[in-house]
Amino acid sequence: VVSLESGKKSFGSNQVLKDISLTVNKGDVLAIIGPSGGGKSTLLRCMTLLETLDGGSLAYGDLAVATDAGGRAVYGGKQVLAKAKERFGLVFQNFNLFPHYTVMKNITDPLICVQKMPKEQAEARAVELLAKMGLSGKEAMVPCELSGGQQQRVAIARALAMNPDVLFFDEPTSALDPELTREVLKVIRDLASEHMTMVIVTHEMSFARDVADRIIFMDGGVIVEQGPADQLINNPQHNRTKAFLSNYA
Ligand code: ATP
Ligand code: MG
Repeated sequence: VVSLESGKKSFGSNQVLKDISLTVNKGDVLAIIGPSGGGKSTLLRCMTLLETLDGGSLAYGDLAVATDAGGRAVYGGKQVLAKAKERFGLVFQNFNLFPHYTVMKNITDPLICVQKMPKEQAEARAVELLAKMGLSGKEAMVPCELSGGQQQRVAIARALAMNPDVLFFDEPTSALDPELTREVLKVIRDLASEHMTMVIVTHEMSFARDVADRIIFMDGGVIVEQGPADQLINNPQHNRTKAFLSNYA
């Protein structure tokens, strides 16, 4: 579905991604964990075209988004990037809904404007997804009338509406209190059981262990260790991974 090879990214003299290679296959649920400042968000932002890589290559399926030319990443044209953007969805920490749009319009607007879907069809899709998120009846509300957990579920519905090949989450519950966190994690667990392809940056270790097939531990701009979820959490091999996980014991 998506593959990054030898991804590199610096901000000034700060080399944030040193040489990251990562492949996500259809149906994979991948969790990324690691200490603050380790480069997790930057990795996600590079994979979702919010930042450009300095070096390496990035492909969505058969679509080459950036190719490596002597260590430098060379990006495809506008059409390639537009096509790539249809293949993934992104859910942030802070929901990122349009505050003055209703729940319905938050979900249908990209469908109507980007995908040129007829309004009735877009609304039917929104109703269906809201039901799946446990939010039936909230269509006419605006984001500030909803709890943080409900807003985040609307954001997930909006991302799913575009029918992406892969959904990226950057700490989807870190702005939520425990009860609301549980609601959002349940929705993500349900998606995992339906084999939705997902990449999830999270500080929720037990969630990562339960929901992910594979976990990557990132620190200092590199993948220190990766493996099957159970193995990485219960039997980490590297000292840095052990030290990090001991904060959550
Ligand atoms: P956290 O767990 O706190 O979210 P993270 O693993 O997501 O951390 P990043 O946000 O990717 O870490 O940041 C990695 C490094 O890159 C940090 O040193 C940060 O200061 C730097 N950085 C990130 N974005 C920018 C930017 N736009 N400009 C300059 N430096 C940046
Ligand atoms: Mg981050």
